[in-house]
Amino acid sequence: MQSVNPYTGETIHTYAPESDEQVDQRIRAADRAFHDWRRTPFAERARLLHSAAAVLRDRKRELAVLMADEMGKVLRDGVSEIEKCASCCDFYANHAQGFLANQHVDSDAADSYVAFDPLGVILAVMPWNFPFWQVFRFAAPSLMAGNVGVLKHASNVCGCALAIQEIFEQAGFPQHVFGALLVESARVEKIIRHPLVRAVTLTGSTPAGRSVAGIAGSELKKTVLELGGSDAYLVLEDADLELAVKTCVQSRLINAGQSCIAAKRFIVASPLYARFVQRYAEEFKAIRYGDPKDDATGIGPLARADLRDGVHDQVQKTVQQGARLLAGGAIPAGPGACYPPTVLADVKPGMAAFDEEIFGPAAAIIEAADEDQAIALANRSEYGLGAALFTRDRARADRIAREIEAGSVFVNAFVKSDARLPFGGVKHSGYGRELSSFGIREFVNIKTVWHGADQP
Ligand code: NAP
Repeated sequence: MQSVNPYTGETIHTYAPESDEQVDQRIRAADRAFHDWRRTPFAERARLLHSAAAVLRDRKRELAVLMADEMGKVLRDGVSEIEKCASCCDFYANHAQGFLANQHVDSDAADSYVAFDPLGVILAVMPWNFPFWQVFRFAAPSLMAGNVGVLKHASNVCGCALAIQEIFEQAGFPQHVFGALLVESARVEKIIRHPLVRAVTLTGSTPAGRSVAGIAGSELKKTVLELGGSDAYLVLEDADLELAVKTCVQSRLINAGQSCIAAKRFIVASPLYARFVQRYAEEFKAIRYGDPKDDATGIGPLARADLRDGVHDQVQKTVQQGARLLAGGAIPAGPGACYPPTVLADVKPGMAAFDEEIFGPAAAIIEAADEDQAIALANRSEYGLGAALFTRDRARADRIAREIEAGSVFVNAFVKSDARLPFGGVKHSGYGRELSSFGIREFVNIKTVWHGADQP
C-alpha cells in the first residue's frame, strides 16, 4: 500500500498490509476493549473526546501537511478540516448523553422506557477525500455511544489512518477502543464476516457500497452507506445572479471537486442562462491550480493520477456528446495529477457529465425552461445526496425543497455537513444518517425495558 504525493508524483511511503492473523487479533482485542468501554461513564468518555479535540487542534498544521502530501489537499483547507473534526468531537462529548438518555413511554406497564445500548465492534470503511473528517464524523458519535471502532481507510492515505489512531492514543483512550487496520479493499469481506464485527459503515463510491452492503446483508449486519452524489443546484429566474455564480463556483471546487456534496450539475432558468454561463466561466478561468502548499493556490491536484484520467475521460466524452467546453478540459504537462477548472455548458441528460458523478473540478451547466423542468432535471439522477436552490422567494423555496429527491436542500447557500444536522442520502447515494442525534442512534440497540406491577 503506497502513499504517492499527487502533486509531485513521488512515492512517499510504502506500507505492508497486516496479515489475516494480525487483523483477527486486532478485532478480538477491540471486542475485549468494548466490554470495559461500554461501562465507562459518559462523563469519562466525554473527557477523553474533548482531549482528542485538543490534540487535533494542537497538531492541525502538521496534519494538514500530511493531507497535502498524501492526497493533495490545499493547506488552509486541511487546517479547516482538522478544526471541524475537533468541533465534532466537542459536540458529541457535550450532547451524546442527552441524545442517548432513556426515553420514558406511557404504556400498560408500571414503567416502560427505551434505552440505547452500544452494539460492539463497528467497521468503518472510509475514503481519502476528507481523510480526517469522514473518520471523525463516524468515530465521535460511535465511541460516545459506547461502541469501539476499527478503521479500514483508503489505501492511498495510510499515513492519515495511523495518525488518527495515534490521536486517540495520545488523548488517553484505552487501547483498541479505536484502531486502524492497514488492509486492501479485497480483504474487507473477511472483516465484515468476522463474528465479532457487529455493523459496518462505508463512505465511498456506489459500487463499493453495493458490495459491502451485499456482504453485510448476507451476515445480517447493519450498514450505513454514504455514497456518491451528483448534486443539482437550481438557479431560478428570480435568483440573485452574483450570489448564485459565486456559491456555485465555490461549491464545485471544494477539495478540487472531490467532494460527495460538491455541486455537480447547475440547472439554470432560461432567462438567466447566458449570463450565468458567461460569469461562471470567467470565475473558473481565474482560479489558480497546482501546489497545495502554496497559499496562492485555489485548488490542488486530484488525489491520484488514475482518478484525474477518469475525470478527463468523462469531460472528453461529454464534449463529444455535444456539450460546449468553455474553460479547462486539457491535462497539463508535468508530473502529478493536476487538472484545470473545467466548464461544460449546454449539458443534457444522456451526456456523461449529466448521468455520472464527476469527482473533480468539472462543472456541467444545464438550461431549464421553467421551474417544473428544473425540478424534473434535478431528480433525473441515480443519486440523491444534496441539492441547492437559488431564489428570492422563501415560500417557493420551501415548496420546491420538498420536491427534490435528496438528503438535504440548501437555499441560497452551498450544501455542507454540520455536526448539529443529519447528513446522508437517498437512492444510490446510500442510506442511514450521520451526525446529529440521528447519526448517533444508527449503531445502537434500541431496547425496550418494561416493568410489570411493582413487587411488594
Ligand atoms: P471508493 O473507491 O469506493 O473507496 C472508498 C473506500 O472503500 C476505500 O477505503 C476503499 O479501499 C474501499 N473499497 C473500495 N472498493 C471496495 C470494495 N469493493 N469492498 C470493500 N471496500 C472497498 O471511493 P473513493 O474513490 O475513495 O471515493 C470517492 C467516492 O466516495 C465518490 O463516489 C464520492 O462521492 C464518495 N463519497 C461519499 C461521501 C458521502 O458522505 N456520501 C463522502 C465522501 C466520498 P481502497 O482504497 O483500498 O480501494
